[in-house]
Formats: sequence, C-alpha cells, structure tokens
Amino acid sequence: ENFENLGLSRLVLDNLPGLGLTKPTPIQAQGIPHIVAGRDLLGLAQTGTGKTAAFGLPMLTRLIAYGKRPAPKEVRALILAPTRELATQIAENVTAYAQGSPIRVFRVVGGASINAQCERLARGVDVLIATPGRLLDLLERRALNLSETRYLVLDEADQMLDIGFIHALRKIARLLPEQRQTLLFSATMPKLMEELADSYLTDPVRVQV
Ligand code: AMP
Repeated sequence: ENFENLGLSRLVLDNLPGLGLTKPTPIQAQGIPHIVAGRDLLGLAQTGTGKTAAFGLPMLTRLIAYGKRPAPKEVRALILAPTRELATQIAENVTAYAQGSPIRVFRVVGGASINAQCERLARGVDVLIATPGRLLDLLERRALNLSETRYLVLDEADQMLDIGFIHALRKIARLLPEQRQTLLFSATMPKLMEELADSYLTDPVRVQV
C-alpha cells in the first residue's frame, strides 16, 4: 500500500518521501480518495493517526487542480484548530506538503501582531490556518473575507467545543459559502458534536480509526 493510487497530485506526491511519508495510515488510505473526489468527511480520529496529512494532501491536490489565485483578502481554504500549538503544527505540515507549488499558506493565532496579520491577509491566502477567536477579530476588522472559501476543515472539533468556541464557529460558518467542501475531525462524538456535524456537513463519508 502506498500513496500513488489515492488520487493525489504529482506535485504533492513528490514531497512525501522527503518527509518520511511512504505508507498511508488507515485514515489517510480511507479518507483521501473521498476528499479528492469532493465529498464531505467526518473523521473520528485522535492526534497521532496522521489526520493532518489525511486532510492536507487531498485539499492541496484540489487547490492545485483548480488553480485560481486568491484575490486580495480572499482565502481559498480555511483550517480551524483549537489552540495556537495545533495551528502552528498544521501550518508547518501543510507548508511542507505544498513545497514547490504556488500555494501560499498562512497561520493566524492570538498573541501575534494583528496588524502584521492584516497586511499579509490583504494579499490573499490559499490556505489559512486559524484559531477561532483570532479569526473572528480579523473578520470584525474586515481584514479578510470568506465569500470564496470553498474548503473548510474543523480539526479537533471536540476540543473547540470544550474551549467554548461554539458561538465563534457558528458565526464563522454563516460567513462561508454554502457551496463548499467541509471536513470535520474529532476524537469523540458527544451529542453537541453530532448536531454540529449535521449542520456543517452534507452527506459526509464517515471514517473511524
Ligand atoms: P497527526 O496525527 O496528523 O498529528 O500526525 C502525527 C505524526 O505522524 C506527524 O508527525 C506526521 O508527520 C506523522 N505521519 C503522518 N502520516 C504519516 C505516514 N503516512 N507515515 C509516517 N508518518 C506519518
């Protein structure tokens, strides 16, 4: 079993051996073909299962295939994570997966200078990784718009609910187009999570590892 038959773009595939990714993990093998095909996905998976590559590789494949540059303040794909640490890790990984492509990856978290973030967002971003609180601040300042954001990833969604980001998530969701692909990852599925999944996902593929 290798990465070659999952539908990933050549550009992305060529980066994998150098990053030590030679054999897909179960969530990657099961999830990637569906994501490449455009389906929504509900992934029940913990950290350490390879879920970052499971959503990052096919999302980059689609962004590269439909190669429209983002206009100023536009974001083509949004990844939401509960903590600065996780957002930073995701950004590092996605940047490595995108090496050699024109895809521009940017991370916004609290604590860093918001003015510098506004300046960078003004130029447009292909993949934005954000914590919900800082993203809301930036949206209120009109530093970006999500009207052309066709990909949404909610990573460690149960953690985001635990931290109390439910209202932030609902606000953010209202600003996204309905025509989009959504991927939701969670280690647990409490009732509120099922409701969130119902409202965010359309006919999702369910992958549990
Ligand atoms: P994650 O679950 O996304 O936090 O990934 C956990 C760790 O596994 C990260 O350090 C990844 O770089 C690594 N990893 C992800 N996919 C693979 C793979 N297919 N083969 C080897 N390592 C991997």
